[in-house]
Amino acid sequence: MASNQAERLLIVDDEEYNRDMLERRLKRHGFEVWQAASGPEAVALLDRQKVDLVLLDVMMPGQSGIDVLKELRGKFTASDLPVVMVTACDQTEEVVEALRVGANDYLTKPVNFPVMLARLATQLQALRATRALQESQERFMLAARGSNDGLWDWDLMSNQVFYASRWKQILGFEDHEVTTSPEEWFSRVHPEDLEAVKSDLQQHWAGAAASFESEHRLRHKSGNYRWVLCRGAAVRDAAGKLYRVAGSLTDLTASKVSDPLTGLPNRLLFHEKLETCLAKAKSTPGYSFALLFIDVDRFKVINDSLGHAMGDQLLLSVAHRLRDAVRESDTVVRAHSVAARFGGDEFAILLDNIAATADAQRVAARMLEQFAEPYRLNGQEVFASISIGIAVGNGEYESIGDLLRDADTAMYRAKALGKARAELFDRTMHDAVLARLQIESDLRRAVERDQFSLFYQPIHSLSPQGLVGFEALIRWRHPVRGLVPPNLFIPIAEETGVIISIGDWVLREACRQIKAWQIEVPASPPIAVGVNVSGKQLRRPEFVGEVRQAIESNGLEPKSLRLEITETALVEDADTVSQTLIALKALGVGLQIDDFGTGYCSFSYVDRFPVDTVKIDRSFVCDLPHNHEHAGIVQAVMTMAKSLGMAVTAEGVETQEQLDHLRSVQCELAQGYLFSKPLPSEDAVRLLHDARAADLATAA
Ligand code: C2E
Ligand code: MG
Ligand code: MG
Repeated sequence: MASNQAERLLIVDDEEYNRDMLERRLKRHGFEVWQAASGPEAVALLDRQKVDLVLLDVMMPGQSGIDVLKELRGKFTASDLPVVMVTACDQTEEVVEALRVGANDYLTKPVNFPVMLARLATQLQALRATRALQESQERFMLAARGSNDGLWDWDLMSNQVFYASRWKQILGFEDHEVTTSPEEWFSRVHPEDLEAVKSDLQQHWAGAAASFESEHRLRHKSGNYRWVLCRGAAVRDAAGKLYRVAGSLTDLTASKVSDPLTGLPNRLLFHEKLETCLAKAKSTPGYSFALLFIDVDRFKVINDSLGHAMGDQLLLSVAHRLRDAVRESDTVVRAHSVAARFGGDEFAILLDNIAATADAQRVAARMLEQFAEPYRLNGQEVFASISIGIAVGNGEYESIGDLLRDADTAMYRAKALGKARAELFDRTMHDAVLARLQIESDLRRAVERDQFSLFYQPIHSLSPQGLVGFEALIRWRHPVRGLVPPNLFIPIAEETGVIISIGDWVLREACRQIKAWQIEVPASPPIAVGVNVSGKQLRRPEFVGEVRQAIESNGLEPKSLRLEITETALVEDADTVSQTLIALKALGVGLQIDDFGTGYCSFSYVDRFPVDTVKIDRSFVCDLPHNHEHAGIVQAVMTMAKSLGMAVTAEGVETQEQLDHLRSVQCELAQGYLFSKPLPSEDAVRLLHDARAADLATAA
């Protein structure tokens, strides 16, 4: 009962004159007055109308005042609805009876008006006190549910809502900015949630639900939506009549938008912040911000090897480090920052309001430094580096989608450049991404369109010197780009899996060519050709069968085919690979380790694989004999190979000096520009003819 509101009285009397007289007088004193001519009429009125006090005539035809009182007391307690009986002075018995069944007081007719006013005042005073107590008890109960909740209290009679300060605060408002209208609430409900909120409320009112509980979005002052939980309970009077609904509002936004593992905000909130920054960048000249995309290097490996529980722990520690790095960098760059956990092992950081791009780079550098330290997880030291991509947000960006894409691109660049580093996005990266996508789609069609061809680079034996074979090297005749070298498309083909069909084509084409040459230029021993095989091909169970098929369908002696497998491909999944190599060896084909010395293959490891030739990588040959370290490595490879009964081919021999050195350490085979660049097959076959002619000449 709000104090600024008129108190509502109901006069129940069968005599119209009495009712009218009292009504006029009471109205003059500021009361709101209703009339009822009988008990049933009074009861019906009380069902639809909230009244503060009843003046009830004892003597009425039909239902007597006492009976009406009894009925009312079945619905309202004496403190909920005071009833003052009006009796004739000789009705003492009735007065006693009335007080016994629950009347609050009585007046005698003819009514002494000042006395009546005093008695009403006493009753209403008591009523107000009880109500206030009730109200504060209810509010206290609700408040106790969570001091952080925003209380609300809706008086259905006056249709006014008391919104506590915290309620307004959750939505970003000051006390005076919110009125007491229910619309303050409903007009802020997200359109998609409104129907559900209303129906939940209605259900509770109708008694179908014991309490009201609804999760929905409310529009914040900023225009963004907050997730809230609104709980409430209808308050009914003794008669079960609804007159109030009160409850609390809890801000769920944080739990809705935070990552359960790390507690960091998740994508949802992060995007909201990005949107805000972008809008600001568009409207505020000179304002810019930075987006850092962070990926834990080799997280999958760590996760798989240490188990998911440890993986989670690691992510948690990473999150802590990021948060710490950001807090520290805040003072350095004066940037307000938020870290957010994206997918599994991806994080992003928003550096709000940076003065210069260099600020963002400095933050990234600091992070990299911190991540060089190992983690202690369950007493175990774990190293986990991160790669960072940076995109600087300015008004030129159309959407945060573009910004996220660019930071992502920069992050992948950081990975490609060797991980554990940070890269700043620039336009050329975007172009590179587009170019790469173009290559990918062109590459898929290149096989069908027959755009590949094989070049052949001669391989020479060093003593006696002579042409003993070739290495087949693929070239792509691109309709627009011309001849594309393999380093520009083989890695992409491997990533996209197109390498399988390309590799299959190379194998069949090389075998066909070898046979054709062997027929055209017979030699003893017959010419052999090295064919490069990707790790992806090697790990397919069908591979051995395909090699057999390529050899047999061309009627080729198996040893004329020499498969080159890079050291890196050998080491990945070594057990499966060594099984495959054993099967290939059994076929009789030659097996060579390519690019030896560039991977992690230790010498002692090599004898696990049935290989017959080791190809020393060009990087060790190019600065022979002056680079003593490389000379030492070449010497060590020679020693190892000899002890394992393997031959050695030196790759990338370009100078006579290099060749002399290789001869001096008894290297048997060499290839390189000194002898010849890779040649188209028509040119290669000419070399075969020349060699054959020279052989014949020496023989003669
Ligand atoms: P690789 O198997 O180590 O081939 C040797 C590479 O060194 C060839 O590059 C060759 O042209 C180059 N080279 C040879 N002698 C010299 C020299 O004296 N100086 C210099 N600077 N370079 C020399 P290419 O043809 O560009 O092939 C690069 C790589 O692409 C190959 O390295 C191989 O790993 C891969 N590749 C080539 N063809 C195929 C193929 O058919 N299948 C697969 N999976 N990979 C291939
Ligand atoms: Mg090779
Ligand atoms: Mg090589």
